[in-house]
Amino acid sequence: MEKKQFQAESKRLLEMMINSIYTQKEIFLRELISNSSDAIDKLYYRALTDEAINFEQDRYAIHITADKEARTLTLTDTGIGMTKDELETNLGTIAKSGSLGFKKTNEMKDGHDIIGQFGVGFYAAFMVADQVSVVSKSVDADSAYIWQSDGSDGYTIEEATKNVPGTEITLHIKENTEDESFDEFLDEHRLKSIVKKYSDFIRYPIKMDVTTYKPKEDGEEGETEEVQEEQIINSMVPIWRKNKSELTKEDYEQFYQDKRYGFDKPLEHIHLSVDGAVRYNSILFIPESTPFDFYSKEYEKGLELYANGVLIMEKCADLLPDFFSFVKGMVDSEDLSLNISREMLQHDRQLKLIAKNIQSKIKSQLQSLLKNNREAYETFYKSFGRQLKFGVYNEFGAHKKVLEDLLLFHSSTEKGLVTLSEYVSRMKEDQSNIYYATGESIERIAKLPQTELVADKGYEILYFTEDVDEFAIKMLQSYQDKEFQSVSSADLKLDEEESEESKEEQNANKDLFEEMKTILAGKVKDVRLSKRLKTHPVILAAEGEVTIEMEKVLQAMPD
Ligand code: ADP
Ligand code: MG
Repeated sequence: MEKKQFQAESKRLLEMMINSIYTQKEIFLRELISNSSDAIDKLYYRALTDEAINFEQDRYAIHITADKEARTLTLTDTGIGMTKDELETNLGTIAKSGSLGFKKTNEMKDGHDIIGQFGVGFYAAFMVADQVSVVSKSVDADSAYIWQSDGSDGYTIEEATKNVPGTEITLHIKENTEDESFDEFLDEHRLKSIVKKYSDFIRYPIKMDVTTYKPKEDGEEGETEEVQEEQIINSMVPIWRKNKSELTKEDYEQFYQDKRYGFDKPLEHIHLSVDGAVRYNSILFIPESTPFDFYSKEYEKGLELYANGVLIMEKCADLLPDFFSFVKGMVDSEDLSLNISREMLQHDRQLKLIAKNIQSKIKSQLQSLLKNNREAYETFYKSFGRQLKFGVYNEFGAHKKVLEDLLLFHSSTEKGLVTLSEYVSRMKEDQSNIYYATGESIERIAKLPQTELVADKGYEILYFTEDVDEFAIKMLQSYQDKEFQSVSSADLKLDEEESEESKEEQNANKDLFEEMKTILAGKVKDVRLSKRLKTHPVILAAEGEVTIEMEKVLQAMPD
């Protein structure tokens, strides 16, 4: 029998699979199941136009059987099957896109990552198997063929017997080594959980013989016996493809829990079914509490990404801007290919469109929460408000419009937190700026001499208690054309224009001020007479852009 060699590129990918130390070897099953599902899809579409083929929904399924003794794992589908030529071209060469990323040697290095995140296709089987055989019968052919390979040494194709069209793939699972165990891929519970994890939403039933215990017939009370029972292990219809009106709040909470998006309950969910320039379904969650690692470097933002029901990436970071990094959830799009590489994904036009869309949906959801359920919004803000402010600061105002209306601050005149728009709506007729004061706590700010004059004029003052507050505001510069101004800035420009009288007073005390300046040398830049003070004898003020409080923060920062 003639042995054929793999195409050069396939060989490289195969070598990588065989020697893979990748911890997520389990994804091989996802790849094989998705191929089977594709094969059934193809048959379904053929049946739509070809009268000779009739598609009986019930016959279409994917079967998984594990045989511990023989160390084999078998996947059978009733899909379109492959002819001899197709076996040759489909399994002997790397056909498509997905594997392009492996071309460059530098990408081979972090290849392990790529295996986990993207479809690497059929060859993934060689991560767990030392021998793979594929028996297939095409709907277009009379005979069946068997393709066999150990992955390293080429492959063979021979005629075989198979009556019904479809494909049967048998993996001989590798023997355990000192470092690695492969037994798990023969264990029905483990297999079941892998299927649930990656392929729960495949549209066709994935069936498996599962061992269960039943009351023994004519046995004693409580006596059970082991029986093999065929079970469908996937749920088939993903929640995100269901109609919103069919779903309850509990369904979404269950999904949040099943997916382990968080240990809390979600505060809000967003369910999107978009059928426009790009088609996708998405379920997004705004969590209630801050994940323990949220404000650390370890936290990884991202949404799960599915291509047509198949999970291709667990944390797709490109789908979320940093300021919405707290959002959890998933996106499923028919317009993405399973075998898309990370590099291509980053530049993918569809994905960019989805990301943009999602961003605006999250924004409007938060806005409506703010408007309609202030209490819930404040809960959210307590957990993630800081991230929004970092957003304002880091994005250099690019997302000003997205974020400025979502901010909340303490205020001198109101009990709770206030929005900027609420502040502006309360501004006095003669007031042209939005005033703020910075300090450690609300109580301390309220006692600052700097706030006195502004408060005396009846102007509201925003109280900034977090380091990031003032930095963020500096980035915004203004809100609804009202500039932000610190109450401790030297040029408050309230109405005490330097009068002749005060100039005279300043001159009269010139020596005193000079003396004070000498004593405080290096600590203050100038000593001046001020009309700003009411009940306090002295006040510190800053000139220019950086206020005293910002200076404190900057000095406290590690270099
Ligand atoms: P991809 O699925 O991205 O095309 P794969 O390496 O997973 O890449 O599979 C290569 C090709 O082999 C598929 O495109 C398909 O034509 C064929 N194939 C694989 N598995 C099956 C199957 N179970 N039934 C029919 N064809 C299959
Ligand atoms: Mg595939």
